[in-house]
Amino acid sequence: MDKISVIIPCYNEEQALPFLYEELVKLTSDMPDQEFEFVFINDGSKDKTLSVIKALRKQDERVRYVSFSRNFGKEAAIYAGLKNSTGDYISLIDADLQDPPILIKDMYQILSTDEEYDCVATRRVNRKGEPPVRSFFAKRFYKLMNKISDTEVVDGARDFRFMRRQMVEAILELSEYNRFSKGIFGWVGFNTKWISFENVERVAGQTKWSFIGLFLYSIEGILAFSTRPLYIASGFGILFCFISFIMICIIIAKTLIWGDDVQGYPSQICIIFFIGGIQLFCLGILGQYLSKTYLETKRRPIYIVRETEKKA
Ligand code: UDP
Ligand code: MG
Repeated sequence: MDKISVIIPCYNEEQALPFLYEELVKLTSDMPDQEFEFVFINDGSKDKTLSVIKALRKQDERVRYVSFSRNFGKEAAIYAGLKNSTGDYISLIDADLQDPPILIKDMYQILSTDEEYDCVATRRVNRKGEPPVRSFFAKRFYKLMNKISDTEVVDGARDFRFMRRQMVEAILELSEYNRFSKGIFGWVGFNTKWISFENVERVAGQTKWSFIGLFLYSIEGILAFSTRPLYIASGFGILFCFISFIMICIIIAKTLIWGDDVQGYPSQICIIFFIGGIQLFCLGILGQYLSKTYLETKRRPIYIVRETEKKA
């Protein structure tokens, strides 16, 4: 009998969890030949999420949970879930029902009948219900990311996926502190089958992502999976050396032909500001990579557990 682990990262999801649980129960009664476990990761929720999970655990042995000591972010929750799951197949799913749990049945169908695939991943065909500005920047981000990184990041991909144990083990090998899952899933390789579904709005509660939050997250992604921005600094360096060489030639020629007049103070100031700005910009890029390296070398744990169903 195959065992399926469903991992659910939860941060302030007390309102959504009962709906999700109901759907999960529907799914399991639809798949009587498979064993299930539901691994809830409570990512330092400030509401009653943990109590809701504990109540579910009381009535259902298949419910397991890991509760963090504080909010460590969804990436950490995903890692903890993968680490604590015991199934032959592992599924990641959002708590807010934006990922229809019933699809897990189809996903299992695909993997159990087709040896060729190791993972079934989902993407949404549209971004219905999302602010247009957000969609615009998200699209630009995916374009840029795929241009400057060797790792493929699929536009519209959700974290909702279904994997074989083997792929999960590979993901766990990547124990880096700055985790960008969309990149990590691509980086480990394996054969992924993509399926699409219509965007669904969350059933209850609120999204945890602000526009700024998403913007910073996209920069994290770029830093984690591409070193191309570092080339920008070298590129500017070469470009400006070249320009200054030409300017020197022009000035020497001008002085020899027309004599030496001191002029051009305003243009000089502009150039100083311009070059200064570019230098700070490049230093900033360097600084970003340095700070990531700094955080990695500290080797801090990705998450800290406060309690689990075993220790409760
Ligand atoms: N989440 C989490 N930790 C966080 C933020 C979010 O575990 O710090 C979970 C959240 O509970 C949900 C999933 O990640 O199950 C997706 O979050 P959300 O729905 O807010 O993101 P969106 O769907 O708007 O991208
Ligand atoms: Mg959501």
